This record gives sequence, structure tokens and C-alpha cells, in this order.
Amino acid sequence: MHSRRKFILQSLLGAWVWAFGVQSSWLRAQRRHRKNPKKSLPLVLSTWNHGLPANEVAWNTLQHGGSVVDAVEAGVRVPEADPKVRSVGYGGLPDREGRVTLDASIMGPDGRCGAVCFLEHIKHPISVARKVMEQTPHVLLAGEGALQFALSQQFPKETLLTQQARKAWEKWLQSSHYQPQINVENHDTIGMLAVDRQGDMAGACTTSGLAFKMRGRVGDSPIIGAGLYVDNRIGAAVATGLGEAVLRTLSTYQVVEEMRRGATPQQACEMAIQRIIEWHGNVPPDFQVGLLAVDKGGSWGAFSIHSGFTFALTTSHGSQLHTAPSRF
Ligand code: ASP
Repeated sequence: MHSRRKFILQSLLGAWVWAFGVQSSWLRAQRRHRKNPKKSLPLVLSTWNHGLPANEVAWNTLQHGGSVVDAVEAGVRVPEADPKVRSVGYGGLPDREGRVTLDASIMGPDGRCGAVCFLEHIKHPISVARKVMEQTPHVLLAGEGALQFALSQQFPKETLLTQQARKAWEKWLQSSHYQPQINVENHDTIGMLAVDRQGDMAGACTTSGLAFKMRGRVGDSPIIGAGLYVDNRIGAAVATGLGEAVLRTLSTYQVVEEMRRGATPQQACEMAIQRIIEWHGNVPPDFQVGLLAVDKGGSWGAFSIHSGFTFALTTSHGSQLHTAPSRF
């Protein structure tokens, strides 16, 4: 009873904060889109602060004639290569045995998709995922097999554990306490969606997963329909946050299906977040999930369980970082 009352109070408080404009930059951007939807395309949308430099590269790729698939691949390669981003690619925090294992997926407007999971030693898992999509009859390659495939495609074998990541792991080893945390850098996947002028769309998602995870743990990011889903006739969605919660409810698939039934991208993100909360007993969960969605007309949506989920939006009006509205 107590937690139910707390849940209702927190919901009311969330609605109040939202209504009175704490999320105003986000609201202004949505209003601008509604006034002039045509001007919203092309559009690039991606998760967290590291989405800003990634969007810039994706945007330039589109401006120079690249496809939406080229754009999302090029965009997410930016945080993959950046050792300061501790949750994606090179410099990502390792598993509890000190090994960096990566998950990534990509999906294009023609419905094709590719993914890798539990991949070690390759700096750009998103590009391996694209090769899986384009060069094999499969969707997902895992672990040793994914590495073998990457090497056969001339990807160099590299050491991905940086000094800083090693130090963080050694510090963690002293207590070995694993607890998923909200909005901290132990989980900050980059998920990116791009829509071109014609309304064709693609998405990409890449991560080192939860910091200090169990060896062999794979999250939502490489699973089509969980971390990423694109249906070029309708819309696309990406997820970040605790992968297990997204896997249990197949959030991005749900978002696209809600849009198919007529929901706006914003409503669809809210419905999928609500389902996760219901699944976890209708009380505020102690983990974060954030969702982004777009539709063919360039409408977009963003919503998270807890406050603090930032995302980058790039249109012909420029790039901005916004904080998504949240349930709590
Ligand atoms: N969703 C990712 C995972 O669970 C982590 C994240 O988004 O931060 O592996």
C-alpha cells in the first residue's frame, strides 16, 4: 500500500514537473516539428550526451550522399573509437573477469538486419554487424564465431581494455559488488536512428553492456526487437538502460507496433516504458530504461523510467541535447 501511494505521488510529481516546463527544450523541439514537419527531414536521433558528436558524423554522411545505413554506422563508430566513452567499444568497461565484450546491431530500410554479441578484440562491432547483415545469410553471430568472422573480413584484432578501464575494474574487484545503477556510466549504450529526406530509416545500437557483468552476459542491444527495431513502413526505435528489462518486454518491437496501431512516437515510447514498470510490479524500479522513436514523417519521441536520460537530436535546425521526459 505504502509503495503504491508512493508510486501515485511520484507519478503526479512527474506530471507536474513535465507540465511546468522543466522539459521545455524538448517540448519546444517537438512543437517546432509539428508546425513544419517537412523541414524535420532528414533527422538523426541518438542516446545520451555522446550522441552529439556521433550525430554530427551521421548527419554529414547523409549530406554527402550516404545512405541511412551508412549514416548510422558512421555515427556510432565515433563513440566506439573514443576511449573516454566507458560504455561503448574501445575503452568500454570490462566484464568481471576483466575482458571487454561487445554487442551491436544494425537494421536498414529494406528490413535486413545484422548483429554480433559477446564479441572481443574488435573496435567497431557495428561494422561487423553490418557485414553479418550484408555478407551472410544470418542475423546474429556470437563470441568466438563472431570474432572469426570479423578477422576473415579483415578487421584488426586489438586490445580494447584501456588503462583507465583496467583501473576501474581493479577498484571494482576490491568489493566485487554488482548493482545496476541509474544514469551512471556503467550503462550508456549508443542507439541511433536516422531518417532521410524520403522517409527511409535505419538504426544502430552498440555497447560494451553492463560494467563488470557476468562473463557471457548479453544484453538487449544486439537483439532485434529488444535494443533496436526498424520497420520502414512505420517507424523505428532504440533502447538504452538495463538490458534485462528491455529483453523481457521487447520494448522496441512494442514501440513500433504501437505506432502501427496509430500511436505517435512519443505515446509509443510512454506505453513501452509503462509496460516495463508494470512488469516490475508497478513500483518505481531501481534501474533506468530510455527509449527513442521516430516515424516516417520525422515525428520523434523520447521517454525514460527515471529522469536524467539525455538524447541528441539533429535536424536542419542544428543539433541539440535534450533531457527526455520520464515517468519518475
Ligand atoms: N542496454 C545495455 C545493456 O544492457 C546497456 C545500456 O544501455 O547502457 O547491455
